[in-house]
Formats: sequence, C-alpha cells, structure tokens
Amino acid sequence: MNGHLVARDPVTLVDTGPLTEDAWNALGHGLSRHGFQVEDVERVLLTHGHQDHFGLAARIERLGKARLLGGRLDRGHFLGKRNGRFLLDALTRAGFGAAARFTMVAMTVAVDRFAEPLSSWDELSGGEVLPGDGWSVVVRSVPGHTPGSLSFEVPEAGVLFTGDTVLRDITPNAIVDEDPGKPGEAFRSVSRYFETLQGIEAPGSCLLTGHGRRIPDFPAHRSRLASRYASRVAQIERALAGTPKTVSELCRRIFPAVRPMDLYLAYSEILGFLMYLEDLKRVERLPGPLPEHWAPRNGGGQVYPLHSASSRV
Ligand SMILES: [Zn+2]
Repeated sequence: MNGHLVARDPVTLVDTGPLTEDAWNALGHGLSRHGFQVEDVERVLLTHGHQDHFGLAARIERLGKARLLGGRLDRGHFLGKRNGRFLLDALTRAGFGAAARFTMVAMTVAVDRFAEPLSSWDELSGGEVLPGDGWSVVVRSVPGHTPGSLSFEVPEAGVLFTGDTVLRDITPNAIVDEDPGKPGEAFRSVSRYFETLQGIEAPGSCLLTGHGRRIPDFPAHRSRLASRYASRVAQIERALAGTPKTVSELCRRIFPAVRPMDLYLAYSEILGFLMYLEDLKRVERLPGPLPEHWAPRNGGGQVYPLHSASSRV
C-alpha cells in the first residue's frame, strides 16, 4: 500500500498502511525523508475502510496530534463491524456449499488483524474542501470499491489520490457487501463503480493510486479499463447462456483455478456484475427455491457504461 504525505500546515497523510510493524517502520522512514516523524502528523485522510489503508490510523491518533477523517458510508469497516449473518445468507443464496462458505467467512475475518478499529474520526460525505496553508483538499465521494470510498484532490499540486478506486496495474474489484444505506440488501458495487469511473474528471491531474505506480493520463487509462470490463461482461453473458446458473456455478466456470483465499473476490466480482446486468434488465433472478438461479433476459439496456468519446468499446 502506498501512503502519501501531502504537505505541511497541517502535516497531512493519505492512508496509513496495515497494522504491521513493517508498515509502521516504512511509514516512519517515509516521513523522515521529508523531515517529519509520525508524531508530527496532524491529519490523516482515509480513502476507504479496508484494513491495508487505515490499519495504523488509531495508532497514529494515539500519539496525540492527528485528526482522522474517513468516508461516512465506510463506518462499519472503520469500526471493524460486519454483518456475518448477511454474508452467510448471501453465500447460501449463491449456491456455495458449507466448505466454501466457511472458507469465505474465515477469509473476511482473517484480514481483521491488519487494522485496529477506530473509536473516533470525522466523517466525510464528499463535497467538502479541507483547508491547508496555501493549498486545499477537495473531497469526492467515489462509491464502488467500497460504499464510502473517497478521492482527495489537491488542485494546487495537480494530484488526485484515488485509494483503490483506480489502480494502474490491477483492475480494482468492486466488492459486494451489505449496503450501508439499505440494511439487508447487497451494495450494487459494480453499477456504482462504473458511475464513479465515468464521473472522474481529472484534467491535467496526475492520479496517485493506493497500490503501485501513478497514472499520468486518466482518460487513456479509463479506455483500457472499459475494454477489460466489457470483456468481463461478455464472459459472464456467454457463461449464462443455456441453462440458468447460480453465482457459485458461474464462479467455477469463469474462475476455475481460483485459490480458496481468493474465492470471496471471485464471488464478489460475479455477483457485482450480475447485479449490474440486472440493473440494465439484461439478466434476471428466477423465482423459486434456493439457491438463486440467474438467466438472460430478452432486450435490456446498452452494456458498456464507460462508453464515451474517449472509449472505443
Ligand atoms: Zn481496498
């Protein structure tokens, strides 16, 4: 995970890295290169509530000076709370057997050790402008990767911090979980994510990502992403042809060699895309006993949401 030091007055850090001694030492070394110590950090901006991004925030706050700020809709993540019953029910509905369900629940619990839950922080919704001395941070809501994901733009520096919403070498996963705005319902992650990608305006800005290299030309990057997502949509629609299928069956077809530790991501990807296609009325869930089966629908809307003048998809 890349942590980023924005500027002084106040000394502002974007994301912290996970709760490990290695990450703590790396943070200290990184700050020392700019003449600071961890104790000097006055403000921590959190792009989203995944453990590898906010894991050290509580520890930094305990040093006394830092104020933490993160997305309102990622509150459950920051508190380290999740609705285990929701996930188990969703996995049963998706057609996974007991062993796969156990593996996936265990994986989601296992990553908790990489973050200390937050007890206090200021909630951001997007639209805020945070002042600095001669510079500012414009906060934008970018739901998709998580419901409460935020991006932070520093116009004076021509940079946009994207967290995991846009990565250069990885196609980010829009993770399905309970919708914090609609308890009991799944967050329609891929639909929200495509809206977010379409809405990112970054003229002249360099994107600093949460993992790996920066992205100097976002429109070109978005075109590449569009073709990757279009391939995924086509793959799922092909796999769905013929007999109705469960999410679990689609996972086996599309990710035949998935490692157990990655099964939750595979499930999330398939379900997220199915709900996106459901929003477009291109697929439907069939009524009937569990597990839930999905089938193509006749008609439906245009698929490619990233279609634009800059996209050839
Ligand atoms: Zn993440």
